Amino acid sequence: MDKQTINELVERWVRPEIRELSAYHVPDASGLIKLDAMENPYTWSEELRSEWLELLRGVDVNRYPDPQATAVTAALKQSMGVPERARLLLGNGSDEIIQMLAMTLGGPGRTILTVEPGFVMYNMIAKFVGMEYVGVSLRSDDFGLDAPALLQAIDQHQPALVFLAYPNNPSGNLFNEQELVQIIQAAPGVVVIDEAYAPFTDASFMSRVMDYSNILVMRTVSKMGLAGLRLGLLVGAPEWIEQIDKTRLPYNINVLTQASAEFVLGHQEMFDRQTSEIRQQRAALFSALQSISGITPFLSEANFILVRMPQGRAKEIHSALRDRGVLVKCLDGAHPLLSDCLRITVGTPDENRLLLMELAAVC
Ligand SMILES: *Cc1c(COP(=O)(O)O)cnc(C)c1O
Repeated sequence: MDKQTINELVERWVRPEIRELSAYHVPDASGLIKLDAMENPYTWSEELRSEWLELLRGVDVNRYPDPQATAVTAALKQSMGVPERARLLLGNGSDEIIQMLAMTLGGPGRTILTVEPGFVMYNMIAKFVGMEYVGVSLRSDDFGLDAPALLQAIDQHQPALVFLAYPNNPSGNLFNEQELVQIIQAAPGVVVIDEAYAPFTDASFMSRVMDYSNILVMRTVSKMGLAGLRLGLLVGAPEWIEQIDKTRLPYNINVLTQASAEFVLGHQEMFDRQTSEIRQQRAALFSALQSISGITPFLSEANFILVRMPQGRAKEIHSALRDRGVLVKCLDGAHPLLSDCLRITVGTPDENRLLLMELAAVC
């Protein structure tokens, strides 16, 4: 086996747009307070854990899972307030759903359009399937939609797919609702409202998913506290879901995920308590960040806060925090509108206190 030959073969056969990508990087967080990935910091009571383990004892991993994931689908439909006539499609995380959407509606010569700064997977998956990608810049002062620019880009590029995260990641804000409706009405293709942060806001398009012929609402259980299960859902008219479902790999939701999600969604009140605590902590963290001089937090409807550091210092502050045991996400350099920005996930009161102490010390 010759290294040079391999490199030549890679050069010849791996598609150029894939060679140019860098793989999604996940930093090592061992030993650190993890405030970089929008995880729910709370775990379950010992009692609930035992009940769960008892249930898993009865799961047969020698058998393929229920291909339709019937029980967990019903549990999600109820828990997420899905309208009666809408249908659900489940994915191995909502990331996989983005990929199914791109495979169904995409391909060379077709366009994914979204806003920037936004969720990076829309762009990566456009590349995976050889689609055009158009990112329309948000307004620089408040990360709001630039509606005229978006409508113009939609008219020009005729996107098969428009993705809008509501609230947006990494800015945390909700977009103007009337403008979103305008975009839904103007888009020739499908508009996906990505509600990954739904547990942390009262705003949602879920109840209106059947009101327009071209919208789909995407959710995930990741941010509410089940990131490790990898389970996302897409909600919309049966006609759309039926087509997208054809690109779903059989058995994409494994037996452990199905059993665990169905079980724990029966304990909705625990998640409601945890997410409401996180919302309270978000408000407290926001005020505390505001009181540190030289840094500017942006208002958030999600479980994280984007914060602008003193000019030119974000990278240095990010590593100083890591050296002091706190991991946050550095977004400086990811997009012009994110210069000097860090994104901080809301943690437990103790974690937030430590973060604030270290941040004040290094700023
Ligand atoms: C985290 C996130 C997702 C992905 O969620 P998974 O279900 O864990 O794959 C999707 N969209 C946005 C905007 C996110 O921030």
